[in-house]
Amino acid sequence: MATETAVKPKIRIESIHKSYFIDGAQQEVLAGVDLVVNAGEFVSIVGPSGCGKSTLLNIIAGLDQPDSGSVELSSERLGELLKTAGERLGQTGYMQQKDLLLPWRSVLDNTILGLELKGLSKKQAREQALEYTEAFGLKGFEHHYPFALSGGMRQRAAFLRTMLMGQDVVLLDEPFGALDALTRIQMQEWLLQLWESLSKTIVLITHDVDEALLLSDRVYLMSARPGRATLVLDVDLPRPRHYDMVTTPDFSTLKAQLMEPLRAQTQTFKFQAIKSVGQAGS
Ligand code: ADP
Ligand code: MG
Repeated sequence: MATETAVKPKIRIESIHKSYFIDGAQQEVLAGVDLVVNAGEFVSIVGPSGCGKSTLLNIIAGLDQPDSGSVELSSERLGELLKTAGERLGQTGYMQQKDLLLPWRSVLDNTILGLELKGLSKKQAREQALEYTEAFGLKGFEHHYPFALSGGMRQRAAFLRTMLMGQDVVLLDEPFGALDALTRIQMQEWLLQLWESLSKTIVLITHDVDEALLLSDRVYLMSARPGRATLVLDVDLPRPRHYDMVTTPDFSTLKAQLMEPLRAQTQTFKFQAIKSVGQAGS
């Protein structure tokens, strides 16, 4: 968002490289990635499967470290730049790709996991979480167990758990990937409103180009593995935004700019005409 603090980099990544031992050989996953996220911005990363998007978030969160290059996370709370993985660990709210709720804990007790890890008593943590269950669409379901919730609700419970960590940088790895199309749209609109009211800095990974454009100030497009940012697109659509915008000409123009390189780098296979499938007796 165009606020005065928006010019201050929260995350600055320069030329990071990362290799893993994959299929019997050392292979480069990230090949010189640069990324800047300013305070209060919503930035999305789009790219084909396996191009290193989750690896990049793991590195920002301090769960992994690059082989070379620099990563800086600016912590207002600590008043310093966090440059090593160890320093960054625990300093971001991170909702990982497979962020499952614990089935044996109620919704409320799932949301307070992070607060408990921080040392709060269950009672204090529950009191804090209860202040937000309404805004997160969980009111009345606090004492239900995750299996009794819809996909969207489970996702909002995982969001609340992440947000309650109280960090000003939030990393979201394909949070809506498993939701049906309508729930997904509802969740996107809900996240837009939440972000507009919370002044958090968000980095979102998604496969969905519409989602990236609708939510973001800027979109980074990554190449297939080894991943690097091949296109950086400023999304100058007005805010507040709402889902209806995806059908506007301005939106379509931006979408075309992203889709063209994305299609070019996604492997395609040629359709071959077949006479029949599953013939009897074969
Ligand atoms: P994306 O999120 O873009 O789909 P990932 O970052 O999860 O991609 O993974 C990129 C590549 O690196 C994949 O081939 C994956 O198997 C591999 N990879 C990721 N993490 C590790 C790890 N800790 N050890 C070995 N290989 C890994
Ligand atoms: Mg991933």
